[in-house]
Amino acid sequence: MRSPILDYLDAIIERTAHVDTGATADYIPELAAADPDKAAVALCTVNGTVYAVGDTDREFSIQSMSKPFAYALAIEDHGLDYILDRVGVEPSGEAFNELSLDPETGKPRNPMINAGAIATHALVRAEEAPAVDRVLALFSELAQRPVEIDTQLAASELATGDRNLGLAYLLHASGRLAQDPSTAVEGYIRQCSANVTVHDLALMASTLANGGVQPNTGKRLFSRHTTRHLLSVMASCGMYDAAGDWFTSVGIPAKSGVAGGIIGVLPGQVGVAVFSPRLDAHGNSARGVAMMERLSEDMGLHLMEAG
Ligand code: GLN
Repeated sequence: MRSPILDYLDAIIERTAHVDTGATADYIPELAAADPDKAAVALCTVNGTVYAVGDTDREFSIQSMSKPFAYALAIEDHGLDYILDRVGVEPSGEAFNELSLDPETGKPRNPMINAGAIATHALVRAEEAPAVDRVLALFSELAQRPVEIDTQLAASELATGDRNLGLAYLLHASGRLAQDPSTAVEGYIRQCSANVTVHDLALMASTLANGGVQPNTGKRLFSRHTTRHLLSVMASCGMYDAAGDWFTSVGIPAKSGVAGGIIGVLPGQVGVAVFSPRLDAHGNSARGVAMMERLSEDMGLHLMEAG
């Protein structure tokens, strides 16, 4: 018998079909050409059961949803204090690609905006394998399948990567980049160009809901403390300059990506992933936010809800 959870998720897709505001990212042809009407939603509980409906086989680039996982990897590599000395944890209130560092500390404000994510990528240990290979191996362990880079997309991102290169040079000038700027940006862009589905993302998010242990393989990928820290940063910084709006309405730690994905994590309970390519003014999926709002309301996900 078909699970009633799948029927409920189908209803989420139907009830948000009218949300057609926003537009696909248009800075590269691969993203601009995405079918704007594709939509998918997936849940994965902390015992590893995935429920997915809609365009569940559709692959899209992970983009900024890669940032939390690379950050957790860097923390596992070096310890939290080392990373906190180099990347802050304060919401920036600015756009994701703002050309700025904290004027008082000279650090990127947080690891969820590009400045902090480029610095973080460069901090992932790369003695034995390039940082991006380690990040991809991590994605594959989280998603329980080989996650691969969309090389065409990565090439387009690199060809239009001046702003990210500018950020990397700024970091380098302040002595806060562990690699040379072009290597760091190339690695970061490849990290963002990994292709995933909502099914993959729900599994990835459920590992964070499960305190850092992949629920199906039982493998600990992040310590409980790293996971708690990461979720706190996602709660305050994951939705860029819409973080306050998001947290008051949906109320769970989350991260969005410019291809239209959003992951959300209810600690101890469930990982959620949605996909819809049209973005709002903050660069978050417009229908994705609507889907998450409904899920949060119907399922009582909001962390500030009593009982
Ligand atoms: N590739 C994008 C960038 O770095 C990722 C950003 C995003 O998803 N918001 O510009």
